[in-house]
Amino acid sequence: MGEFGLIQRHFAQLGPLASDIRLGVGDDCALLAPPSGCWQAISVDTSIAGRHFLADADPWAIGWRALAVALSDLAAMNAKPSGFTLALTLPEVEDCWLADFSAGLRSLSEKAGCPLIGGDTTRGPLSATVQVMGWCQPEHVWRRDGAQSGDLLVVTGSLGSARGGLQQMQAINTRQRGERWSWTPLMQAYMLPEPPYAVRDAWSSQPGVHAAIDVSDGLLADCRHLLEASGVGALIQDDSLPIEADLEILLGQNQAREAALSGGDDYVLLCAVAPDQLETLTRLWPATVVIGECTESLGIKLASGRSWIQEGFNHFL
Ligand code: ADP
Ligand code: MG
Repeated sequence: MGEFGLIQRHFAQLGPLASDIRLGVGDDCALLAPPSGCWQAISVDTSIAGRHFLADADPWAIGWRALAVALSDLAAMNAKPSGFTLALTLPEVEDCWLADFSAGLRSLSEKAGCPLIGGDTTRGPLSATVQVMGWCQPEHVWRRDGAQSGDLLVVTGSLGSARGGLQQMQAINTRQRGERWSWTPLMQAYMLPEPPYAVRDAWSSQPGVHAAIDVSDGLLADCRHLLEASGVGALIQDDSLPIEADLEILLGQNQAREAALSGGDDYVLLCAVAPDQLETLTRLWPATVVIGECTESLGIKLASGRSWIQEGFNHFL
């Protein structure tokens, strides 16, 4: 099967094409018609075998995850997904692998309402680059730089599970890594993250979300990005972070807290919200947890007095 047969078989019809997509896969470009008054949000993420995922992992999960990490960025800006492109580099054409990979992509694409509208297919070491596009209402964009002193810092789901899942994935053999139905909940949190589009849908037209970022490199690292952009500091209640019981059983309480603070790949939102909106936001998204507050004095202080450990992931350190 050549490049075009492969595209036709696995990527030609993937996800629900809405009316804003005038032309999808097949021509030199895709064509999008912006809904009136909207701004376009664009973001790209590369997933490289051996770096961002284990090459022998279930291809269904590799497909899901490549799209999930990109969709997380759209949610963090309060953008509604419109479509994505896929630049796929493959060492060889293996039809079964591609069928599973595209099924994983399709599953999330349908769930999130984000169709595949184009891409590029090349030969080389395995990697998948996903570019997502979405539409924002200008008056409801969530940037990183809007946090104010006195705002509450909230997260929209539990922290650290992916770090535990990675550790477990590394400890099992190739056959088990290839069978996603045998994975523990922590492995699923790492390999099959649910990007935060549902909370973004729930909060999309609410006032009171002053700033947001998705937690991909670790809570402290991403929190620092938000604080620095906003010119405020924070006091974090690090002894009351949302942590799954499974993670505490695996790592013990202390290391589980460290994983929650500095482990990456959580793909929940960290938001600075107006205190008087907390009740409404929590009603709309019950998994909301307050983890601290923004302060005038710069830097991050941990309420436990812990002094610190590695902050998060950085490719070039
Ligand atoms: P061109 O040579 O004009 O850049 P290509 O031959 O790379 O076009 O691709 C042909 C069509 O297939 C284009 O519409 C492109 O967007 C689409 N395409 C190529 N690879 C992929 C892929 N991995 N996923 C989705 N669409 C793809
Ligand atoms: Mg091309």
